[in-house]
Amino acid sequence: MSKPTLVVGGGPAGLAAAQALASVGRDCILVDKADRLGGAPILSGYAKLVPSGEWAKDAIGGMVERVAANPRIDVRLNTTVSAFDGNPGAFRATLASGDQLDVGAAILCTGFTHFDSVNKPEWGFGTFPDVVTTTQVEQMISSGQGVRCPSDGRKPERVAILLCVGSRDRQIGREWCSKVCCTVSANLAMEIREELPDCHVYIYYMDIRTFGLYETKYYWRSQEEFKVKYIKARIAEVTSDGKRIIVKGEDTLVKRPITIPFDMVVHAIGMDPNVDNKQLAQVFGIDLESHGYIDRGNTYSASGHSSRPGVFVAGAATGPETIDDSIAQGSAAAIASLGYTAVAV
Ligand SMILES: Cc1cc2nc3c(=O)[nH]c(=O)nc-3n(C[C@H](O)[C@H](O)[C@H](O)COP(=O)(O)OP(=O)(O)OC[C@H]3O[C@@H](n4cnc5c(N)ncnc54)[C@H](O)[C@@H]3O)c2cc1C
Ligand code: SF4
Repeated sequence: MSKPTLVVGGGPAGLAAAQALASVGRDCILVDKADRLGGAPILSGYAKLVPSGEWAKDAIGGMVERVAANPRIDVRLNTTVSAFDGNPGAFRATLASGDQLDVGAAILCTGFTHFDSVNKPEWGFGTFPDVVTTTQVEQMISSGQGVRCPSDGRKPERVAILLCVGSRDRQIGREWCSKVCCTVSANLAMEIREELPDCHVYIYYMDIRTFGLYETKYYWRSQEEFKVKYIKARIAEVTSDGKRIIVKGEDTLVKRPITIPFDMVVHAIGMDPNVDNKQLAQVFGIDLESHGYIDRGNTYSASGHSSRPGVFVAGAATGPETIDDSIAQGSAAAIASLGYTAVAV
């Protein structure tokens, strides 16, 4: 006999946690505030994923289908947890929809919030319609519409992708590296070149962090095979001459000012802490770390734990994470929670 586990958030981490629990014969209740499962890759309409190259709607959509079809997983959409009381092994969760649930443990897989580029006004987003974000370009590709300038629907001949927008930026209180945006941007640049072979794509960077094995598949391949151009630069401002978007800055390798016109400028936006984290911390009685992500236990002795016994955490809720790592953490947290849901007979 065992009590169900509450999984909050049905993105890659939460889907993996729910699936792992069900696969060892445990019941779980999966709560998501959105009207669909799938998390950011589905809700934001990502295109082809790094590193698998699979479409998000197939890869993460497949995870959603398997969870939705599993009788051990009770999915509750359009709701949040408003109260969480009790002790490990015997918690009571109250949903905003009014239901009360008796659960043995909880796994928070509540993910992140995309950086809102209006917080970086000097880089043109919100002022010029052809300054867009990586999520918007992902949506253009995944919807089948293709990469087009929002102002007039033309195919861009010159595209700039600006890295580290809302990451590694102390001036706006975001010191962290968002981990995936260098690789995602190199991937997006190749997708643009594939669709529009005459389009010139430039990536403006401070440093390139295509970590691990991604260096070959994304950084070098984008340059050698797809002729994407990389400019190490400090960007001063993004303006317009009335026809094109102008990116002004300094080439920090040759130490000279550079001003280049583009048809479209793409912000590679970072991964902010979930805007709900303060409320989640209050409801679940857990700590946040200094940047505002959910604090996690010691890796060597309490992997997957939050600061409260019986409450676990996985995925981008803990800081910028890849999908693969979020899935691995979701499965690991499910295993770590098992000891709290078993009822002695
Ligand atoms: C532009 C962009 C492209 C990316 N592309 C890739 C890629 O190709 N490959 C890759 O590995 N990574 C990529 N990433 C990173 C990827 O988005 C994350 O790794 C992944 O989404 C993390 O999964 P998660 O389940 O932890 O969180 P999320 O995907 O954020 O899911 C969290 C879920 O929790 C729900 N939720 C949030 N708050 C609450 C609440 N209070 N109550 C109930 N439910 C709640 C949300 O509705 C959501 O369904 C990209 C990131 C960006 C910004
Ligand atoms: S992964 Fe690259 S673009 Fe993203 S914050 Fe880190 S260095 Fe900047």
